[in-house]
Amino acid sequence: MNDVGVHDEKPNIFDLTREELAFILTERGHKPYRAGQVMNWVYKRYAGSFQEMTDLPKALRDDLPNWVEFGSLELLKKQEGAGDQAKRYLWGSGGKPLVESVLLKYKYGLTGCLSTQIGCPAGCAFCASRHLGYERGLSKAEIVEEFMRMCADEKSRIGRLVFMGTGEPFLNYENVMAAIDKLCDPDGYNLSRRRITVSTVGIPEAMREFARDSRGVRLALSLHATRDGLRDRLIPLNRTYPIGEVMEALGDYARATGQRVTVEYMLISGVNDKKEDARALVALVEGIDCLVNLIPWNPVPGLPWERPDAEDVRAFKEVLERNRVKVTLRRSLGGNIEAACGQLRREMTERNR
Ligand code: SAH
Repeated sequence: MNDVGVHDEKPNIFDLTREELAFILTERGHKPYRAGQVMNWVYKRYAGSFQEMTDLPKALRDDLPNWVEFGSLELLKKQEGAGDQAKRYLWGSGGKPLVESVLLKYKYGLTGCLSTQIGCPAGCAFCASRHLGYERGLSKAEIVEEFMRMCADEKSRIGRLVFMGTGEPFLNYENVMAAIDKLCDPDGYNLSRRRITVSTVGIPEAMREFARDSRGVRLALSLHATRDGLRDRLIPLNRTYPIGEVMEALGDYARATGQRVTVEYMLISGVNDKKEDARALVALVEGIDCLVNLIPWNPVPGLPWERPDAEDVRAFKEVLERNRVKVTLRRSLGGNIEAACGQLRREMTERNR
C-alpha cells in the first residue's frame, strides 16, 4: 500500500480500493475525497474513461491518467447478435486479441458472460477455444474490467454475471475469487452473489474449496456425458476427475451451501442426445438439488459434429421431466452467441496469422 503511486508500473483503477486511490491523489496534491467521486463514476455511473467524469475539476481529469491507468484492455471488435439480443466484445492489448466477453439481453435483464483465462488449458474437444493456445489466467483487474467496460458500453447496470467465457475459472481460482469480491463490494458495484454463476469442467478439490469461500455464488458443472469413456474424449480433465468424483463434489456443494446447482448438458447429434443418455442423466443427478440446463451444441468450424434434431432434444427433455428432474432448454440468443465465446478471438487470431 505504501508504495502505491511510486511504483514503476502505473496502478490500474480496477485494482485499487478507494483508500489506495485517495492516497495517490493526496500525494499528487488533490483532495482525497475525490477518490470517492472517481469510484462512483467507475462503479455506479459506468464511466469508460477519466475524461467522462465531468464533475471532477478539469485539472484532475487531465492529471489522473498520468498516475492511474484506466484499465488495460483495448476494445478490438464489437459484434451485435441478431435482434440486438447479445453483444460480443473482443479485448486485446497492443492490437493482439486476448479475450472475449459477451453481454446477453434477456427479458429479465442483462447478463455479462466473462472469460477467465487467455486461451484455455482444458482442451475440451467440442470447444472453439481448444486450439487457441493457453497463455495465462486473467488478473483480478482484467476480469473486473471486462465486466465494467460492458456496463460502460451499454451505459447500464448489468445485474447478472456468469463465468462461461473462455477459460476454466477453477484453474485461475484466486483471481476469479478476488474479482468476484471486488464486484460484490458494497461500496463499489455491489453485485449480488446469488446473481453470479461460476461454471466448471469439474475439479472436485476446487469445488470443495469454493463451497467454503463462495458465500452464495452459484455453481454450474459442465457434464455433457454420462459415461466416463465418452466424457474422457469430450473433456480430457475427466481422466483425472471422473464423473463419480465430480458428481459427488457437486452434491456436496449443494448440501453444504443449501443452494440449487446447475448441471449443463450440451447435446451433440448422435453423440450424447439419445433417450438412454437422458435416463443415465436422471440416475446421475438423483438426490442432488439441481437444475439441468440443456444446450444444443453450437457448431465450431472444423469439427465433425452436428447440432441435435429438435425432436431428439424434445424427447431428451421429456425423459428428464417425466422423472421429475428440473430442466430448461437454453434459448439461443444472437445465433447462439452465448455458447460461442472464443469464436470471435479465433476468427481474429486466424486472420492475423
Ligand atoms: N470452463 C468452464 C466454462 C467455460 S464454457 C466450463 O467448462 O464450464 C461455458 C459452457 O459452454 C460450458 O458448459 C462449455 O462446455 C460450453 N461450450 C463450450 N463450447 C460449446 C459449444 N461449441 N457449444 C455449446 N456449448 C459449448
